[in-house]
Amino acid sequence: MRSLETFVSCLDDYDPNALAVDKAREIVRSYVTPITVNEKVPVRAALGRVLGTDIISTVNVPAHDNSAMDGWAVRGDDLDPSGDTRLREIGSSFAGRTFAGQVGRGECVRVMTGAVMPAGTDTVVIQEVVRVDGDAVVVPAGQARGQNMRFAGEDLAAGKPVLRAGQCLRPAELGLIASLGIAEIAVRRPPRVAFFSTGDELASIGQVLREGEVYDSNRYTIHGMLARLGCDIIDMGVVRDDRQSLAQALREASAAGDAVVTSGGVSVGEADFTREVLSDLGEVLFWKIAMRPGRPMAFGRIGSAYFFGLPGNPVAVMVTFYQFVRDALLALSGRTDAFELPLVQARSVNALRKKPGRTEFQRGTLAKNERGEWCVRVTGTQGSGVLRSMSEANCFIVLEHDRGNVEAGDYVSVQVMDGVV
Ligand code: AMP
Ligand code: MG
Repeated sequence: MRSLETFVSCLDDYDPNALAVDKAREIVRSYVTPITVNEKVPVRAALGRVLGTDIISTVNVPAHDNSAMDGWAVRGDDLDPSGDTRLREIGSSFAGRTFAGQVGRGECVRVMTGAVMPAGTDTVVIQEVVRVDGDAVVVPAGQARGQNMRFAGEDLAAGKPVLRAGQCLRPAELGLIASLGIAEIAVRRPPRVAFFSTGDELASIGQVLREGEVYDSNRYTIHGMLARLGCDIIDMGVVRDDRQSLAQALREASAAGDAVVTSGGVSVGEADFTREVLSDLGEVLFWKIAMRPGRPMAFGRIGSAYFFGLPGNPVAVMVTFYQFVRDALLALSGRTDAFELPLVQARSVNALRKKPGRTEFQRGTLAKNERGEWCVRVTGTQGSGVLRSMSEANCFIVLEHDRGNVEAGDYVSVQVMDGVV
């Protein structure tokens, strides 16, 4: 692994005490080397996984030209462009039951959707416009050659790449793979992530809360977010704020995981202690990111594992995870498709106070107002410990670095939560 220090020192405007969100994201993203180990899984089990190899089509899908509609397959040459054409029906072709003969001049074949186009035909006339007159099938003028049919290889052409290594497999991709007749595919091994919470004040659920203690809720939010990203999770529980316990836990975690995520212990009061422990074990940078919530964060590596030291505050944990760890873990899992979350514009229902010089991630609900316009509303108190503000939210209101106060009715950027948090 490259030295992180060398890597960041080459960057313009790198300031660990006032690092812009975009800069931090760029550092994290480009420092991560993707996992390239593949494993084979059956198609169904590949949902949400990252494709390990390119998939080249060995066949045409569909395999034959076929009808896109119910109607009659005809020869384009037979059709009178200016009036009715009378044709003789010589048979039928259904999906899975093909007409075997050759269609000659003045002849046509009844076809249903999906039926292979009979030899000699090149056009389908839909049944709604056709009139059957005794033995004759009467086709009106105005038909275009090649209409209402699907061409062989139109969906997937033999020899052409269908899917690329690094794509996330969604239901559509599972269907594509199945349409090629493939039963098993190579996917990347998911990242193994070890995580723990730090703090002498933390009690685990099931214990009785003593004076000054809080329940360890980060354990559950982080677990949930890692699970949503498809990681293999190593849950190490709570680690006390003492040198030995922390060093021991970090050693174990970095030996077991491709990445280590911790919460707590990076705020001003505790950073020195954590910094000392980490300096013996790896290379970790302590950042003050120009953002709210989530200002302090540590990033680096311990042994061969990437390390994310998130703040302790429950909302700050989720915001920093969403903005940095999500990116890093998706890059680590080998994703090469675009996974950046889109920002959309919506009108803010509320006036928002905002200081230029930091990016703010307020929690909001995006919904239609009574006039049918998409508007965003903040979810109550925005303190970094108020987890309810996350629970009630379906989006982040992203107030950009240079932006000042927002008036009610102004447009703001909205990052829709995609099911990670
Ligand atoms: P720290 O960053 O360790 O100084 O913690 C900041 C605040 O977050 C303190 O009020 C902690 O009690 C709270 N906190 C830290 N870790 C957790 C956790 N795992 N679950 C819930 N609250 C936490
Ligand atoms: Mg702490």
